[in-house]
Amino acid sequence: MFVGHFAAGFAAKSFAPKVSLGTLILAAALPDVLWILFFATGIEQVVIQPRIMVANSLNLVYIPFSHSLLMNAVWGALFGGVYFLWRRDPRGAWILFAAVLSHWLLDFVSHRPDMPLAPGIDMRFGLGLWNSRLATVIVEGALWFGGLFLYVRTTRPNKRAGVYVFWSVIVVLTALWLVSLGGDPPPSLASLAIINTIFFMLVEAWAYWMNRIRPARSKMAREGVTV
Ligand SMILES: [Zn+2]
Repeated sequence: MFVGHFAAGFAAKSFAPKVSLGTLILAAALPDVLWILFFATGIEQVVIQPRIMVANSLNLVYIPFSHSLLMNAVWGALFGGVYFLWRRDPRGAWILFAAVLSHWLLDFVSHRPDMPLAPGIDMRFGLGLWNSRLATVIVEGALWFGGLFLYVRTTRPNKRAGVYVFWSVIVVLTALWLVSLGGDPPPSLASLAIINTIFFMLVEAWAYWMNRIRPARSKMAREGVTV
């Protein structure tokens, strides 16, 4: 998924208002960040195969370390654990763990059966939502709408940019997502890695900024730290 993972980060803000939106989105997208690192270094294997699915042109040949259910639980435990040691916020740590784990579930829904259970186990799963653009727009669009709804209900802008910059970027992300459903193959794996890394760093910078100018409404969150 694409905006579906961001939606998980937005929705998580309503369950853990003390945790920064940037940290929540990083957790929800963490397996994809690791995936770029792993295929760029040859640990995992991806092949560009145009139209392998209607809305996707990547054959994920070998992705057990970034995208297996077991490893997503391990990355989630590490991510949540580090956050807990740093902030002593058990609720935030559990929500970050769940956000990382949500990645497997969302990719399982959208991918063809290429989602592994654990390294060394050759069974792979996927419901293949990407075989239908219409079904993807409906399902992922509903997640996107739901995540944004929860986030907007949980936070309140304290600067104008918290409205204008926030919604401008949401429009851009929505447009990029719809374009991505065209399923056009990337020119090369190197360009895929570079473009995705730059794109994700920009999204993260925006999310951490938005977290400062759209603080949580709840009293609990205002008294707490935001990181
Ligand atoms: Zn993924």
